[in-house]
Amino acid sequence: MTEEKLSTFTAPKGTYDLLPPSSATFLAIREALAAPLRRAGYGYIETPVFEDLKLFSRGVGESTDIVTKEMFSLTKRGKEDLALRPEGTASVVRATLQANLHKLGNLPVKLWYSGSFYRYERPQAGRYRQFSQVGAEAIGAEDPALDAELIILADDSFRALGLRDYTLLINSLGDKQCRPVYRAALQEFLTGLDLDEDTRRRAEINPLRVLDDKREAVQAQLTDAPRLRDFLCEDCKVYDEQVRELLTAAGVAFTDDPKLVRGLDYYTRTTFEFVHNGLGAQSAIGGGGRYDGLSEMLGGPALPSVGWGLGVDRTYLAMEAEGIVLDLPGTTAVYAVALGEQAKNVLFAKVVELRRAGVATDLAFGVKGIKNAMKSADRSGARWALVAGDRDLADGVVQLKDMTTGEQTPVALDALVTTLKEKQQ
Ligand code: AMP
Repeated sequence: MTEEKLSTFTAPKGTYDLLPPSSATFLAIREALAAPLRRAGYGYIETPVFEDLKLFSRGVGESTDIVTKEMFSLTKRGKEDLALRPEGTASVVRATLQANLHKLGNLPVKLWYSGSFYRYERPQAGRYRQFSQVGAEAIGAEDPALDAELIILADDSFRALGLRDYTLLINSLGDKQCRPVYRAALQEFLTGLDLDEDTRRRAEINPLRVLDDKREAVQAQLTDAPRLRDFLCEDCKVYDEQVRELLTAAGVAFTDDPKLVRGLDYYTRTTFEFVHNGLGAQSAIGGGGRYDGLSEMLGGPALPSVGWGLGVDRTYLAMEAEGIVLDLPGTTAVYAVALGEQAKNVLFAKVVELRRAGVATDLAFGVKGIKNAMKSADRSGARWALVAGDRDLADGVVQLKDMTTGEQTPVALDALVTTLKEKQQ
């Protein structure tokens, strides 16, 4: 009989495990990115991590890298084509249409989400195959104040985390009136350039995406490319101006980036990206824009909408780059150490009682001497240690040790919960 050698497993390429203590910071970042949304009337939505593949090919765009190269597709029983979600907007609009949220009350429908997304990208620092986003969508209203609201909320959440070294890039992609005129002009310009086969094909399907090419050799040829800004129709110009005025009035600084088109097909008018200056190549910490045509592309009614997705992993890296350490409250307030079997049972009961009373408490498990147990108490970051031996219990007390001063005082067992609750305040 051959025995298969047990191999050790590692997380798949392009993924990583979130582990304590940094996982606590990660959670706090998610929470901080979502906090301004909760205060602005956005309701929480959760959609499946996989969807009909066609939702993304139709919604995100057949010509995008996300759909052509990066989608994790799954085929079940040879007939059902599913894909792990590469982004959140298409799913949120699909769910809104399915549940008729747009018919239930006043528009816009304001929703926020938090979760993992999947793209089969070449992994590198800040670019993963599974990553985490907090996102927001405001569906069914065309109002420059709504675009401004979302941009301000994103900026507020980055600022609340202490981030400063980033730039907000802004552009307008026009609408179905003016964009085709620009598209044709750009296409004509691109025909005259020396481009590789792939880029040439992209220029035919979606010429705006060539502007997004990161290669220097391509960028160098684009210096004199026609600018969308010069082609915007009057309505788009006015809309764009209003968004900018509202941002300025709210004290949110931005920089014009006429080449900002972003990788998804569905954007119209306002488009924006938050770029951090300390992250190297993968510098976008968040981005979004208006997508007035997406609902119709998915078979729904016209629902002009705007939204964004902020990258939690990259926000974490950006904070690291700026040397920001969040002041997170310790998770354990009290750490109990029992000396002896009987003491262990009594202390265990007290620990349960303390937890039920809302005091975060941990306990030394396993047989370890007092020295090791006190080391664990230290490592837990607890403010207080509870130490009890059989003799203390016979006297009806436990020793309460202040871990910062080292001072130790006996406390009556009966008074323990109230004493610690008071001290915690
Ligand atoms: P996008 O839909 O590409 O604009 O993504 C929105 C945000 O999600 C970006 O600004 C990044 O912060 C983050 N993001 C996108 N793709 C990845 C990835 N592969 N790894 C880590 N973060 C990502």
